[in-house]
Amino acid sequence: MQPSLFLPLALAGVLAVATTAIHRGLRPHVATRLLVASIVLVAASAVPSLLVVSASFLAHVPVMGTGIAWCTQMLGIHAEVPTWLGVAATAAVASGVWQAARVVRSRRRLDGGQIAHATGHTDDPRPVEVIRDDAPIACTLPGRNGRIVISTGMLDLLRPEEVDVVLAHERAHAAHRHDRVLLVSEIATAFVPPLRWLAARALFSVERWADEAAVRACGGDRRLVAETLARVALHTTQPVGALGIAASTPRLGVAARVEVLLRPDARSVGRRVVGGLWLGIAGVAVLSAYQIHHLAGLAASLCPH
Ligand SMILES: [Zn+2]
Repeated sequence: MQPSLFLPLALAGVLAVATTAIHRGLRPHVATRLLVASIVLVAASAVPSLLVVSASFLAHVPVMGTGIAWCTQMLGIHAEVPTWLGVAATAAVASGVWQAARVVRSRRRLDGGQIAHATGHTDDPRPVEVIRDDAPIACTLPGRNGRIVISTGMLDLLRPEEVDVVLAHERAHAAHRHDRVLLVSEIATAFVPPLRWLAARALFSVERWADEAAVRACGGDRRLVAETLARVALHTTQPVGALGIAASTPRLGVAARVEVLLRPDARSVGRRVVGGLWLGIAGVAVLSAYQIHHLAGLAASLCPH
């Protein structure tokens, strides 16, 4: 095995750890972009390596015939892949494909644009749909038209100015296509499960992004947004795969968002640090792209001559 096969992944891991360490000190949109870039970078570094290891392992399996020749020649891997590593990589690739397909299927079912098209409601690109349900629900469906759904239970629970907060929050999710952050995070996590760690922080950042948009839309009243968030969090539920007002993960939940709303700028990270991280991400991306040439060679060798 070539240790260099895993060098981009190791470097991407270091950058991911650095990003998670500072994300709460960044403005939410900056944090979101850095976290998504880190997620993509780790996945782009890990998945090709997994494919190469898996292909090399399968090529060395006796029933695969004389595959070892192209494996050695094209991949530059001159030693057999250890069975445990080959089995693990092959299982990870298979499981990743299966789970990513599930993520894409479930997103298609929730796609606001498709629903709007199917029901003929395509005039308003971002309508708010009120559904009759006693449960307090408010969420933004994925898709280009990002339909916002709010339940009668939620309208009953909140004062009018609090409803405005909820709608401003959901509109921010739709306007900035936060569903894409969710989609990228879920697909990457399907292939590289430890990315859950980064994905939870990306979800926290998009929620913070929408919270700050709600603050601006409601005249800068941070306390109103914080109180609305706290009240909604006590009651709300949301469909899986949609972005709700009280979406949260353990330890990065509503309490943490309320804390930042009430104490803004408690921590801040300098531009130089952010710039350094972007430079690091760009550098590792180039290294990962170079590493992918192993796969190009593999594909070429498998084509009939
Ligand atoms: Zn939200």
